[in-house]
Amino acid sequence: MLKQKNLIFVGAPGAGKGTFSAWLLEHYDLVHISTGDILRDEIRRDTELGRAASGLMKEGKLVPDEIVAGMVKARLAQPDCDKGFILDGFPRTVHQAELLEAALAETGRKLDRVVLFQVPDEMLLQRLTARLSCRKCGEIYNRLFLPPRQEGVCDKCGGELFQRPDDSLETAKNRLRVFYEQTQPVIDYYARSGKLLTITETDRERIQQLLNRELN
Ligand code: ADP
Ligand code: ZN
Repeated sequence: MLKQKNLIFVGAPGAGKGTFSAWLLEHYDLVHISTGDILRDEIRRDTELGRAASGLMKEGKLVPDEIVAGMVKARLAQPDCDKGFILDGFPRTVHQAELLEAALAETGRKLDRVVLFQVPDEMLLQRLTARLSCRKCGEIYNRLFLPPRQEGVCDKCGGELFQRPDDSLETAKNRLRVFYEQTQPVIDYYARSGKLLTITETDRERIQQLLNRELN
């Protein structure tokens, strides 16, 4: 199962897509395509794209559709995506979903399932503002659910942990608003295609069991 599956993970910020993807990738050989990670990498490398995206991301606003869709299309064209992929955090607008459809057609790939992670709003806000990221390797922690062994220090690489500017309460609320305004229609779009699988679990093992069963 999950092998050679082409999946989209969709959910509000803080719903656990990223954390669950990371865990899944330890068990399955799939390509992880996170537009948030690609953008943060562009910012770290101080590219033109990174400079354009950085202000928008700090405010919790979306980066223009054409830019993120272009990044995803380039990634999907790589041969390693033959083994299956998870699109994490993309598409976030109906226009992005349409651009994705074109990119899939051009790269000769097709979508198997769209997995929706559904979590109550209060829990999302709690999680978002408790999130810590490693400055060096990008590993994500959570003061509530996934604290590092030593406060402020990454378990994996010893790097310094910090709160991303887009994880403040004000930005978190803004990101939720953006999610309901722009991404909810994407969910409706995929619901019509019959490919949507909704997960309301927050427990990893239960999520995995469910995916195992549903994605066979
Ligand atoms: P999350 O923590 O919600 O998973 P991400 O790391 O996916 O957040 O994204 C962080 C920020 O990067 C977003 O708030 C947005 O500014 C930008 N971004 C990421 N993916 C997209 C996308 N598909 N479309 C537009 N902007 C995006
Ligand atoms: Zn680290």
